[in-house]
Amino acid sequence: MSTSPREPDDLPPLVAFASRHSAVIFFVLMLAVASFEGVALFAAKRRDARSAATAPVQAADVVYRNARVWTGDTAQPAAEALVVRDGRLLFVGSSDSAARYVGPNTMVLDLDGRRVVPGFIDAHWHLSTTSSADLNGAGSVTEIASRLAVWADGRSRDAWIVGRGWTATDFPDRQPHRRHLDAIYADRPVLLTDRDGHQVVVNSAALRAANITRATPDPDGGRIVRDADGSPTGVLQESAASLVRRLVPPPTRADVARRIDALSRDAAALGITMVQEMSGRVPRGDVFDALREAAAADTLRLRWYVSVPFNPEVADSVLRQYVSLTDSLRGPWLRFWVAKGMLDGTVDARTAAMLSPYAGTTDQGLPFMTDAALRRGVQRYDSAGLQVALHAIGDRAIRQALDAFEAARRTNGVRDTRHRIEHVEVPDPRDVPRFRTLGVVASTQALFATPDVTTLQNYAPLLGPERAARSNHFKQFDDAGVVQAFGSDHPVFPMHVMRGIHVAVNRTTVEGTPRGGWYPEGRIALDAALHHFTRDAAYAAFLDGQVGILRTGMLADFVVLDRDPFAMPTDSLFTVQVERTVVGGRTSYLRGATVGASPAGRPTRPR
Ligand SMILES: [Zn+2]
Repeated sequence: MSTSPREPDDLPPLVAFASRHSAVIFFVLMLAVASFEGVALFAAKRRDARSAATAPVQAADVVYRNARVWTGDTAQPAAEALVVRDGRLLFVGSSDSAARYVGPNTMVLDLDGRRVVPGFIDAHWHLSTTSSADLNGAGSVTEIASRLAVWADGRSRDAWIVGRGWTATDFPDRQPHRRHLDAIYADRPVLLTDRDGHQVVVNSAALRAANITRATPDPDGGRIVRDADGSPTGVLQESAASLVRRLVPPPTRADVARRIDALSRDAAALGITMVQEMSGRVPRGDVFDALREAAAADTLRLRWYVSVPFNPEVADSVLRQYVSLTDSLRGPWLRFWVAKGMLDGTVDARTAAMLSPYAGTTDQGLPFMTDAALRRGVQRYDSAGLQVALHAIGDRAIRQALDAFEAARRTNGVRDTRHRIEHVEVPDPRDVPRFRTLGVVASTQALFATPDVTTLQNYAPLLGPERAARSNHFKQFDDAGVVQAFGSDHPVFPMHVMRGIHVAVNRTTVEGTPRGGWYPEGRIALDAALHHFTRDAAYAAFLDGQVGILRTGMLADFVVLDRDPFAMPTDSLFTVQVERTVVGGRTSYLRGATVGASPAGRPTRPR
């Protein structure tokens, strides 16, 4: 097995070289690049002026001109034109200079002063393969019942009723219970997953089907919530949910392929050009097969970064398989480098592992791994050259993750490993600077800071004011110089990037509540939020140098917005819509038009 980190073929030599060596060398090189870029910009301007008068050397496929481009590139922050050829940016600069790339077959599109930004990258996303009723924001059991009825309409009358997206505040006294569901469906089994995906509530028919009774013990890493007399309430947390979940018939291969296509269309309409699929799936079966087939047929509308399971007890032979998979899955559309593990649950389910108890309780959550097992596991994956992404929400789980990354560094040496902590909701303040010291990416979710009824009435009270004030506090990572990548955790939250940016910048709901923002000291600037959804999310997947900023030579992934977020009041950022999404030079979404698959299955050329 390789003991050195492995590099994608298509990373620029500088990054590949630096990542094989120490962070010190990397840092020095980056300084050199930074000063070189200053000179390069000057030289580029002279070159630009000189060649504007000469004939085109290479004709472009498409020239997008007369735009207001926010490149995300500190060397050249603004531009007017993007010149695309063979899926890459042939030139980024002024509209005048772009004219020299226009040949007889070049399509020229005037963007009429529209704002253009790099394609959005969702750094934490899940492919949800099972169809279910959407219960997000239901607000009451009555509304849950009516959404389930709509979903069940037309489905077979003995099939499972499946829903997802409830929160405690949808139920009387914040106590979901099987009796609420028995009143809706007495005989058909019902399985409703909460918004965060860490607990389910089921009805009595489902408990019977799974043979869960008062005598059933809690499984490892899970909790069967019980009434005072010991009988199950119907709420099953963490691993206990799978006692029932495994009974729901899985989707077919065709279902999975349809889901991938439908979700990719939704993502493209929101300006997303890449998703990082963080389910940690075993790399075989319908999902991997469907993605590989689509990548081979060149029909993906998004770039995918996929994860395998992080299991501290993984067999050496399986770990070797993962490493060889990084060789076969390293294309620009489908790529694998990361193993995803879970260290705790969520605050709302009181399963996030905390250093001190939830307010008014003696409960400190549910850690999933011992320190020793975690360290051993991280050390093995790290030594194999794989990136490790650990779900850690509570301050105790976050510290556990950082300690394990630090220990691996001591054993295996300092390299550009870019290990990540997913969610990082409530870090202890003393741990925040350690992300930078250890080169760990904070993979946060902008919409998690939404001060909605669940946050205000369940999440914050469980933490108490001191911890609530520093939860999902994105500015603390920026201030500490930590690389912070934004994602949605779809389907936990919608993959709506502009809404995420709205929340990160304002810390209000889209309705503007609470006025002035919820713990407003955690707000960040618009350009910082954009960087986290573009440049920084690319870095988190080792794709800096390819995507995330708009620079000559990089892949042509960008978004045309209908209005300029830099020229409007921040309280309406959520209203900005996407007019066009371009990925690898192809238009994957065009507002008001159907960008379908051509007969050959490829997304159509831009118009
Ligand atoms: Zn997730």
